[in-house]
Amino acid sequence: AAAPTPYCWLNGAIVPAAEAAISVYDHGLLYGDGVFEGLRFYQRTPFRVERHLQRLPDSAAALGIVLPYDANALRQGINALISRYDGESGYLRLVVTRGPGNLGLNPRNCATPNVFILADQLSMASREAQEKGLKLIIASVRRTVGAGLDPRVKSLNYLTSILARMEANVAGADEALLLNERGQVAEASAENLFIVRQGHLLTPPTSDGALAGVTRSVIMDLAQADNIPVSERTLTPYDLYTADECFLTGSGAGLLPVAEVDGRPLRTSPGEVLQRLRQAFAALIAQECGA
Ligand code: PMP
Repeated sequence: AAAPTPYCWLNGAIVPAAEAAISVYDHGLLYGDGVFEGLRFYQRTPFRVERHLQRLPDSAAALGIVLPYDANALRQGINALISRYDGESGYLRLVVTRGPGNLGLNPRNCATPNVFILADQLSMASREAQEKGLKLIIASVRRTVGAGLDPRVKSLNYLTSILARMEANVAGADEALLLNERGQVAEASAENLFIVRQGHLLTPPTSDGALAGVTRSVIMDLAQADNIPVSERTLTPYDLYTADECFLTGSGAGLLPVAEVDGRPLRTSPGEVLQRLRQAFAALIAQECGA
C-alpha cells in the first residue's frame, strides 16, 4: 500500500504537508533559530506525549522563545492531526521557530514564532541493522559541554550531528558517536547510548553531553522494574570497545543494537539485556497506546 499522505498542523490549521509553507525570512530557516520534538504514535495514540510537551517548552525557554500555544493547545493539535492522518501509526515532528524577521540575526526582529506539527512515516535504520546491529564510528567532531549552546536544548541546529553522520557515511558505517571535548562519550548523532557490562546497564549523564532522551528515561525505568541495575556513568571509548553489549535509543530510532564500534565487534548483538528491554518496551507501548 502507498504511504499515507503526510499532513501538517501549521499555526492551528491542518493542511497536506506539501501545501504547508512558511516565510523564507523565518529565522528557523535563516539561522537554525528554533526548537523541536520528535515522537511516535501507535493506534492513533502518541507515546509519552506529556514528556515531549515538557521538553519542548524547556528548550524554548532556554532560547527565550515564547510559545504561542500551551501544552493543551499542542496536545489538541496533535490529536486533530492524527485523526486527519490516514495511518494508525507514524511519526510526529513538532517544530517551533523564532518566526519571520528580517535578514539580520537579532531575535528582536521576530515578532511571532511559527509552530508546526508534521505527521508522516519515518524509518531510521534498515531491517538488517535493526536485527543484526549497527556499525558505529566515533566521530572527530565533538559535543561541546559548558561552552556555547547547552546540548540539552533540542534546537534546530543539528550541524554537529550532521557532520558526525557524514563521517559515518564516508567510513561506510551506519551511525556516528560523539564524544565531548573531554573525550567522554556523549551520545549518537540522534540517539542516546547504553552499554551493558557484567549485567549492569550504563549510560552517560546529561552533563557529559547527552540529550535527556525520553526513550532513555523509559529504558532506565523499564530496566529498574526488571531488576537490571542501571546507572548514569561517564564512559570512554575503551568502555564501548570492551562492553558486553551496546545499543542506541530514540523516539525515531527505537532500540537499535550496536554490532561494532570503530571496527571492533561487540561481544553480543543484539545482546540479552537489549532483547529483554525490547520486549518490555513493546509491552509498554501496547499498554499505553493499545497497540
Ligand atoms: N540525542 C539526540 C541528539 C537526539 O536528536 C535524539 C532524538 N530526539 C535523542 C538523543 C533521543 O531522544 P528521544 O528518546 O527523546 O527521542
